[in-house]
Amino acid sequence: MMSLRLPSIDGLLRHPACVPLLERHGRESLLASLRQLLDELRSSVLTGQLSAVEISPEVLAGRVGERLARQQRSNVRRVFNLTGTVLHTNLGRALLPDAAIDAVQMAARYPLNLEFDLASGKRGDRDDLIEGLIRELTGAEAVTVVNNNAAAVLLTLNSLGARKEGIISRGELIEIGGAFRIPDIMARAGVRLHEVGTTNRTHARDYEAAINPRSGLIMRVHASNYSIEGFTARVPTPELAELAHRQGLPLLEDLGSGSLLDLQRWGLPAEPTVRQALLDGADIVTFSGDKLLGGPQAGLIVGRKELIAKIKKNPLKRALRVDKLTLAALEAVLGLYRDPDRLAERLPSLRLLTRPQSDIFAQASRLQPLMAELLGESWQVSAVEALGMIGSGSQPVARLPSAALCMRPQVSKRLRGRCLLNLETALRALPIPVLGRIDDDALWLDLRQLDDEPAWLRQLPQLQVDS
Ligand SMILES: *Cc1c(COP(=O)(O)O)cnc(C)c1O
Repeated sequence: MMSLRLPSIDGLLRHPACVPLLERHGRESLLASLRQLLDELRSSVLTGQLSAVEISPEVLAGRVGERLARQQRSNVRRVFNLTGTVLHTNLGRALLPDAAIDAVQMAARYPLNLEFDLASGKRGDRDDLIEGLIRELTGAEAVTVVNNNAAAVLLTLNSLGARKEGIISRGELIEIGGAFRIPDIMARAGVRLHEVGTTNRTHARDYEAAINPRSGLIMRVHASNYSIEGFTARVPTPELAELAHRQGLPLLEDLGSGSLLDLQRWGLPAEPTVRQALLDGADIVTFSGDKLLGGPQAGLIVGRKELIAKIKKNPLKRALRVDKLTLAALEAVLGLYRDPDRLAERLPSLRLLTRPQSDIFAQASRLQPLMAELLGESWQVSAVEALGMIGSGSQPVARLPSAALCMRPQVSKRLRGRCLLNLETALRALPIPVLGRIDDDALWLDLRQLDDEPAWLRQLPQLQVDS
């Protein structure tokens, strides 16, 4: 048998099958990919393991084309979040409204008055771009914005409590996902932790007994991601504020999600509002931009003017500042809050959170036969009621009544786990990966967030489940 020879690089580069690749990816990338592939094939050719067709220019060009396409695909990918958790931290939390997307585009494309006062022609302050709106929407005297709420807490603690003691209830020494622990943040902020009370009960007298000449502040943290129930006691904010102010100490409140409006208006579980926390006497309130607010990742620090001024003077503020794209998006989102009647239509996170269960169930029923046909005999597919979550630590025990496609493998118990993992993997391998959750021997796709149904349907025929 005559031994085969790989085509030459030059020959391949000129071959019609490679011309479109040259056009699309450029000479350098194509050359590198071709070299790599030929190097990989060389030994197999020598030992006669490849046929003439397998090393034909057409086949080689096809393989290189696939590699280049894979390399070109960005690492940041759109996905379908059908996990049932709306504000999913690992999936980017809140989706921006069109108004914010337009604002981001403008800010990305053109120079802007980020730190420039157009009225006076003098240097400006980037916080001024949103201060008016925040004051209107929360009743705060002043505001400053940083990269996220974790940064807001760090900056506030360091600005107001460095080298002093921070008094906090043991029931509020929380850990939030991603290694954010209040005691650690306090330590890094240079604040000495002075914990008071117990995990389930803390009284006014506990705070009072803790106050001493080294005290710098009292802190309250909203227990966002867990709930303490049963035999509990917590000092109401107005009482705690009065106690703090009697001793000349500021009261900080880390609200976490911090809603700007009472969500009960839309039938959602009550969540403390920023305005109420300030009315109750908190001197500084910190909250996230991309949780219930429904905006970009940001940390908002609002409250008393002289304290905000002190925070803004901290050199850490510069290290933690927000960028222009975030500010542009934030202003646009805040603007929507001026018309609460239309907020649920315009703000995607609120629209998704308030989507009626009947609507989601109707969608599940509509899609059920399609999915059943696609998966065939070995799966039982049903449209069922399901319970979702707000996510991002908001209302950890509250459940959102929703509906899902529930897929159960019709195989022996021993094989079920593997079947479910295969389906999960196949859904993740789609051009727009579909993310659901496995629970109770079934794979669930919660459809609350399936608003781009056409895109979802279009790619479904490509689903390839290993058996
Ligand atoms: C989410 C949360 C944080 C952290 O906010 P990020 O915006 O994620 O940095 C801090 N404190 C509380 C109470 C939270 O719920």
